Amino acid sequence: MIICKTCAVEYDEPPPDVCPICSDERQYVPATGQVWLSIRDLHEGGAVIRITQHSPILWGLSAPGVGIGQQMLLLHTPQGNLLWDPLGFIDEQTVAWLRAQGPVLGIAASHPHMFGVQVSWSEALDDAPVLVNEADAEWLGRRSPAITFWSGKHQVTEGLTLYQIGGHFRGSTVAHWTGDDGILLAGDTVMVNPDRVTTSFMRSYPNRLPLSAGVVNRIAAQLAPLSFEQVWSNFGNSITTGADMAIQRSAERHASWVRGDFDHLT
Ligand SMILES: [Zn+2]
Repeated sequence: MIICKTCAVEYDEPPPDVCPICSDERQYVPATGQVWLSIRDLHEGGAVIRITQHSPILWGLSAPGVGIGQQMLLLHTPQGNLLWDPLGFIDEQTVAWLRAQGPVLGIAASHPHMFGVQVSWSEALDDAPVLVNEADAEWLGRRSPAITFWSGKHQVTEGLTLYQIGGHFRGSTVAHWTGDDGILLAGDTVMVNPDRVTTSFMRSYPNRLPLSAGVVNRIAAQLAPLSFEQVWSNFGNSITTGADMAIQRSAERHASWVRGDFDHLT
């Protein structure tokens, strides 16, 4: 197994010349070129995992400087835990900490940029199922019998369901927990902005390519039946009250701008 330095997604060896995820228009290969690393290289380079508790049932785990730099979330339910947007680095201390939190029911990424070393996490956690949306199977760099493909909607456990919302990627996903007044783990399927009251919807975040009004309206319509106070995105930003309505308002705003309603202001 080897890891792309830029996106920290794992690949079977030998890897391709250039990471397909990074050479796609939604990511980028840095000016310094393609670099492949092992977990050991990352460890020797000083990679560490930091754990922050956000609420009694939600923790954020980050590995500063590794790949895109997402925050992996651990959502705790009475039946067991979901690992969301897995990091592209893994270490023994964190595996031991995760084991102490209870069984891992599933490992899921909001989209392929967040695959991280998902199969390595699964291997370290008793082959916990890696839940990959079928529409994004082509982006998998590493195969494993632990990978379970799903489409449309997938219940992880009672009250916790993955929904294929699409948009950024065809398989872009959110995880909806109905307990604790409702929590949506959204990755960047719906990106919480730095203002923590609005969200964005993009085809490419690093290359700043917005989705159309039609797609954003479709995303909003798919989320409308779900009730949730909180939404958490993949870089630590969250909306902690009224998040479901905030997304609907943000979708309306985005659609208005890309449709041209506000062209007279430009
Ligand atoms: Zn990459």
